[in-house]
Amino acid sequence: GIVVESLSKAFGSTQVLKDISFSIPRGETTVLLGASGAGKSTLLRMLNLLETPDQGTMKIADMSFNFSNGHDNKHLNKQACALRRKVGMVFQQYNLWPHMTVLDNLIEAPVVQGMPKKQAISKAKELLERVGLSEKAEAWPSSLSGGQQQRVAIARALMLSPDVLLFDEPTAALDPAITNQVVEVIKELSQSGITQVVVTHEVEFARKIASKVIYLEDGHIVEDGSSDHFAHPQTEAFRSYLEH
Ligand code: ATP
Ligand code: MG
Repeated sequence: GIVVESLSKAFGSTQVLKDISFSIPRGETTVLLGASGAGKSTLLRMLNLLETPDQGTMKIADMSFNFSNGHDNKHLNKQACALRRKVGMVFQQYNLWPHMTVLDNLIEAPVVQGMPKKQAISKAKELLERVGLSEKAEAWPSSLSGGQQQRVAIARALMLSPDVLLFDEPTAALDPAITNQVVEVIKELSQSGITQVVVTHEVEFARKIASKVIYLEDGHIVEDGSSDHFAHPQTEAFRSYLEH
């Protein structure tokens, strides 16, 4: 799971995240909602140290971090590499290599990191089957639909057997009908015990996948609870967000 306490982050004089605390049990899918600029992507990026918090503590994938301003970051960089093997990330733009087949996109990073090629190929095939794309191993990314490309991107993130998967607006570039393909994959991964955090603007998508919801406003957590909060918001702010 994930436990975050009193995280904060400023860019220059702008305080972007303020005293953020929450916990996510292992295997749960949490959706992170909020208006544009609320700090969702920044918070998500902190969970795999693409951004370094100024203050606070974080426990994720059995690793612990203690941040304080002006901290010597050399040690942190080393830990960040280890962390990113356990915490995968999937973006809105799938970022597949256009000059590589689907299979090669999957095995590239693990092979560079020392996984034997044979093992990488068999793992890649297994994962493509898991996301319903076993036919597409030799296809070029450009020949796939958006939903298929996003499923390849998810399979690629799974190559390193992460404990946690982070998604930043994974369906924003997809047709609503295609979004359900991503819903199915996320649900399946949740059953297999992977902890997932999903940033989205799409409330319907969020309702389908969430076991937990966190609503951010202006860098603060305003609402934090189970998926029941969709039906029963505890704050006026979240109620009003859901209505719009
Ligand atoms: P959106 O829904 O539009 O993606 P978001 O909730 O993901 O928004 P963030 O990208 O986390 O919002 O940004 C939160 C705030 O931090 C914004 O005001 C943004 O301008 C600012 N910000 C983000 N990254 C940086 C950066 N590298 N340097 C300076 N300011 C930044
Ligand atoms: Mg964002």
